[in-house]
Amino acid sequence: MQDKTHDAMIITDADAWRSRDLAVLWHPCTQMREHPDTLPLLPIERGEGAWLVGYDGRRYLDAISSWWTNLFGHAEPRIAAAIARQASTLEHVILAGCSHAPAVELAERLLAIAPREAGREPLAKVFYADNGSAGVEVALKMAFHWFRNRGEMQRTKFIALENGYHGETIGALAVGDIPLYRRVYAPLLAEALFAPSPDSYLCEPGESPAQRASRAAAGLRELLERHAGEICALILEPLVQCAGGMRMHDPSYLRLARELCDAHGVFLIADEIAVGFGRTGTLFASEQAGVQPDLLCLSKGLTGGSLPLAAVLTTQRIYDGFLDDSRDRAFLHSHSYTGNPLACAAALAAQGIFESDGVIERNRNTAAVMRELAQPFAEHAHVADVRQTGMIVAFELTKNGDKRTPFDPAARVGLHAYRSAVANGVLLRPLGDILYWMPPYCVDHAALRQLAQVTRIAIDEATACA
Ligand code: PMP
Repeated sequence: MQDKTHDAMIITDADAWRSRDLAVLWHPCTQMREHPDTLPLLPIERGEGAWLVGYDGRRYLDAISSWWTNLFGHAEPRIAAAIARQASTLEHVILAGCSHAPAVELAERLLAIAPREAGREPLAKVFYADNGSAGVEVALKMAFHWFRNRGEMQRTKFIALENGYHGETIGALAVGDIPLYRRVYAPLLAEALFAPSPDSYLCEPGESPAQRASRAAAGLRELLERHAGEICALILEPLVQCAGGMRMHDPSYLRLARELCDAHGVFLIADEIAVGFGRTGTLFASEQAGVQPDLLCLSKGLTGGSLPLAAVLTTQRIYDGFLDDSRDRAFLHSHSYTGNPLACAAALAAQGIFESDGVIERNRNTAAVMRELAQPFAEHAHVADVRQTGMIVAFELTKNGDKRTPFDPAARVGLHAYRSAVANGVLLRPLGDILYWMPPYCVDHAALRQLAQVTRIAIDEATACA
């Protein structure tokens, strides 16, 4: 009896947070009209490892690592302790003209682990920003400004990939190709050139992913030739176009793209904001093609998912291109919280966990379990594709289980799947009609089995009436 009263009280608490929230908050990436009836709002009180716990005591497996940020579980004690320690000594200081140990040590660490390519000068300098989109802006501006400092005024364009995504700020949106985010703002965006995506899902019948990659690279070559001398950089998401629906490609594309960039004197910007730090099976996705970019954008998992921070790694050559007596030639880009000590301390703690816990090795095991659990979905009547790169698995849902017949978007299949999964204790947030698993690395096998069961139910329920 007492328990019941307690339950009732907690549930009221969750409802209270829901209504207080909707009275004052405007949520990201949400048609607010869908709250609360179409889309349940989940007030979360705390996180425990791979799980989120609501104010009503309900537990949800965070199958999407809270927008791909979380690596080692929520409220990870070592990261929490590092933040607390740092907060009691130096919470923040301006990074123009000042320095501090966490920013220096993190930069040293990142440069030591960054992708390396034999015969290429290593990444040697780190510029901080405070979120992924801002990091992308930094990389784009750096590439553009470097050529300008050299007097190459005609190099003003960027090439990006079809179906790519690099963030929501105006510069990052300009090199993104997802209509849902881009369309409305198109009149505000600088013109970018889009090269064909190497996406293996787009393979013609009988075409291998490597052949698809080389066909896409031919399109890139053509674009570079047509705009010779006008391009400053190619930006891409190595191995997985995440927001574009977890579309995956053959690593050979990265090598071909690297060679083409070199041949045309164009910088390669690798946006590893989502795929970096072990998501694809290696610490960085670029490693799988033995490719080193000229500019590497990192964020999301950089702090283990605890605090916002971005880092852009670049070469000595690019850095040197800004050294001059004139301030005009300096890279004056700045954010108030550049190199925030709390975020840097969290990132250092996260790096320590990679080393102490043998994370990449453990993930290999977890990815194998994910593969085993995902494989049977290929037989489902509404699953056109099951794909995996490391710790990312995606299921492409279509009307007839083939690639030619997508569901009518009005059927909101993804939304139905989301609601079904939430009702069964899993936070799965599909990208359109693509469901995916991208759990924190600490997820255990029992949780993965539950994830597979709940996903099966979600797909069955969502596709039953579509
Ligand atoms: N680049 C990629 C590849 C991303 O996936 C994202 C975020 N989903 C961003 C950039 C933007 O990062 P943020 O949301 O921190 O601005």
